[in-house]
Parts: sequence; C-alpha cells; structure tokens
Amino acid sequence: MSSSKPQTQRRFDIVVIGAGPAGLSFALALEGTGMRVGIIDRQRLDQLAQPSFDGREIALTHASVERLRRLNVWSSISSEEISPLRVARVLNGASSEGLDLRPATDTMPLARFVSNHVIRRVLYERVLQARDVELLCGERVIAIRPAVHDTEVELSGGMRLRASLVVAADSRFSETRTAMGIPARMRDFGRTMTLFRVECDEPHHGVAYEWFDYGQTVALLPLNEGRRSVVLTLPTHEMRRLLTLDDARFDREIERRLAPRGRMRRISERFSYPIITVYPSRFTAPRYALIGDAAVGMHPVTAHGFNLGLLGAATLAQLIADAAARGGDIGATEVLATYERKHRRATLPFYLATNTIVSLYTSEELPLRIARDAILRLSDRAAPFKSLLTAFLTRGAAEVEGLGRGAWGLGRR
Ligand SMILES: Cc1cc2nc3c(=O)[nH]c(=O)nc-3n(C[C@H](O)[C@H](O)[C@H](O)COP(=O)(O)OP(=O)(O)OC[C@H]3O[C@@H](n4cnc5c(N)ncnc54)[C@H](O)[C@@H]3O)c2cc1C
Repeated sequence: MSSSKPQTQRRFDIVVIGAGPAGLSFALALEGTGMRVGIIDRQRLDQLAQPSFDGREIALTHASVERLRRLNVWSSISSEEISPLRVARVLNGASSEGLDLRPATDTMPLARFVSNHVIRRVLYERVLQARDVELLCGERVIAIRPAVHDTEVELSGGMRLRASLVVAADSRFSETRTAMGIPARMRDFGRTMTLFRVECDEPHHGVAYEWFDYGQTVALLPLNEGRRSVVLTLPTHEMRRLLTLDDARFDREIERRLAPRGRMRRISERFSYPIITVYPSRFTAPRYALIGDAAVGMHPVTAHGFNLGLLGAATLAQLIADAAARGGDIGATEVLATYERKHRRATLPFYLATNTIVSLYTSEELPLRIARDAILRLSDRAAPFKSLLTAFLTRGAAEVEGLGRGAWGLGRR
C-alpha cells in the first residue's frame, strides 16, 4: 500500500467480504442482533444496485424460499419474476424414457426459478434498509491479518477494518481463503456451460428437460410467458469454437443441437461459465469463516449452490447470534468449530455425489451410456429413490439428511 493513501481505521463486530447473494443474505440474517456489520465488495455501487442479467436462473428449493421470506426479501420479488418448475424430466440421449420428478401434490411446484440478478438486486435493496449494516463498495481486500482478539482487513483504498470475525463470501475462487492458508480441492471438469433465453413454439407446461447426449448436455428450464432458459454444456475447446461464431451461425448451430425439443428463437445474450467445483479442506481459520461458493463451489447441474449458500449463512448467523446472546465471543474457536461440523455434514456428501453423478452422465464410453439408461429407467420405478430426489429439490440437501436414511430403511433409532 502506498503511504500517500488515507489510513482510516474502522471497527465492526463482523466484516463480510463479498456482497454477492451469500454475503448479503448472511448480513441480513444478523439483523436485530445489534451487531455492527460491514460488507466489502470490489464492485461499484451502481453495479451492486442494478446487477445486470447474467444468464443464471436459480432454482430455489422450498427451504430457500422460506429462508428468503424470513429475511423479508421474498415479498420484494414480483410474481412475474418467479417461474414455477412443475416436473423435472431427465433423459438419456434421444431416448424418450427417463426419470420424471414431480412434487407430492399438484398445488405446489417442485422448485421456483428466479434470475440471479433479481436475487442480488432485492437482497441489496433490503441491506440498504437494514440497521447496523454498512456497505463499502469499490474496495478490494488486499491483506487480511488474524490476531488473538480480532482480524484486520486492509482495503485497496487504504482503509483498515478490524472485526471479531471476518466472514468471506468472495466466490469459489476466494482470494482471502488462499491468503488465510486454507487449501481447497478444485475439480476442473474441462467443460463450459453456456446459458441464454429462448422463445419456443410449443408451450412448456412448467416442465424442465435435462438430457445427456453424445458430447453435450442440455437443460431446458421453463420460464414465465412461455420462455425457456437453455443451458448447454460442452467440452471447453468445443464451446470456445461455438462462442466465436457470429450470432446467425451460433443460432443455426443451436437450432440443430436443440432440434429434438422443437423450434426455439434466442432472445438474450449468451453467458458462459467454466465448470470448476471447489471444496476447501476447512471452512474456518482463527476469526475467519467461509460461506457461499467460497465454502462450497457446487457443480451447477444439481442447482444447489445458492441453496447451500443460504443454508450456510443461516447456520453461521444462528451460532453467532446464540454466542452473542450468551455474552460470549462471536469469533470463538468453539463457535467456528460447530459451524465447520454442521456445514460439512450438510454439504460434503451432496458435493461428492453430484461430482460422481456428473462423471457418469457425461462419459461417452458405451458401457456407461448403457448403464445410465438402465439407471434412469430403474430409478423412475424406484419410489424411495424418486422421493429422495424430489425432496432434494423441494426441501434441499441438508433438510433431507434424515429423510434419506428413512427412505432407504436406515433411519436413526
Ligand atoms: C450456470 C450456473 C447456474 C446456477 N444455478 C443455480 C441454481 O439453479 N440454484 C442454486 O442454488 N445455485 C445455482 N448456481 C450457483 C449460484 O449462482 C452461486 O452459488 C451463487 O451465486 C454464489 O453466491 P456467492 O455470494 O457465494 O458468490 P458470488 O456470487 O461469486 O459473489 C462474490 C462477491 O464477492 C466479491 N469479491 C470477490 N473477491 C473480492 C475481494 N477480494 N474483495 C472484495 N470483494 C470481492 C465479488 O465482487 C462478488 O460480488 C448456479 C451457478 C452457475 C454458474
């Protein structure tokens, strides 16, 4: 840091790094505890206030909708911005038989899609109204120094913040996680996902399709007003070639790839994301904790990254509030150890299972292609397996921990 920069010192109870969906949700979950929270983000104020469409349609479980309700955020999302998912149909290649997931009753959807930029916008607007929460935008963390009683965070503008606990929600490629010496297992799938919206001739009736084809995986997600979101996954080198095509040639190739599901016209820009999943060896360090993608960087195929992010934010906020109510130290080792244990138990099996399923379903080897066809057909007839998968969608990973054991006759006595 240059000596000409201002050297302001500020003190908070908690400093959150990252004003993405996880960081903002966590700060809101602490509202009413009386703790002073500072949130830092490197994006400018206008970028945080008016996030632009990024292609992501986030499938929210019922548990996540309930959490957003408790944060007083859900009611700010207009009904036009919420698209219900009624049936999820998983198919193997051109086969018309596969696995259908439906909700327990027709009156409630399996999940609800809300665009990522809408979630970010409403959380940001709610944080502006929150007492005791302060946003510091256009600031990058350039150093982080844990000490016995607090942690110091140094910002690019020269300011130094001190807090009893620093919570990092600074993305799956978290720089502060590295700076704190926490190793993370990263898995690069060598594939890239491209997303865009389309209009279709056929109505979708709230049905999402996911099909595994030769060299590609395609998901079609139902959105309001008859639109759909296309999620195309290809090996990265192949996707690079596709993305260099001009609009007309890109659209022609997409039309060919989506042909089995009818005619569609692209109505948005295209956005791409390399598929790299991340799981750190620890979620905590002295006076430091990870939440959101910084803690668990899920493969998007099971649509659970933000759902798990909300769960982690709620778990940590509750433990901190409990410690504060007892008059204890909110950054104490025991508080962080409990968070570590709970969040790992809730997420690790799901993270590993997702990566394994993706490997099976994207393999081009003939025995695996035959095996997955058989697995999908059998799963469609296996009631306990289907109810478990459905519960993952409606309730979320952690909430079905008990149900999973029950469904397979392994319930705790
Ligand atoms: C294609 C795709 C589809 C998805 N679909 C779903 C779905 O259906 N359901 C679901 O639950 N999840 C889904 N997800 C996952 C979901 O989008 C993420 O889990 C979620 O956005 C992560 O939020 P976050 O706040 O942890 O991180 P981010 O959104 O990455 O935010 C991190 C923030 O930290 C800031 N930051 C980073 N470093 C610094 C620094 N050094 N200093 C200051 N600020 C910093 C950044 O500017 C940013 O604002 C999907 C993801 C993808 C890629």
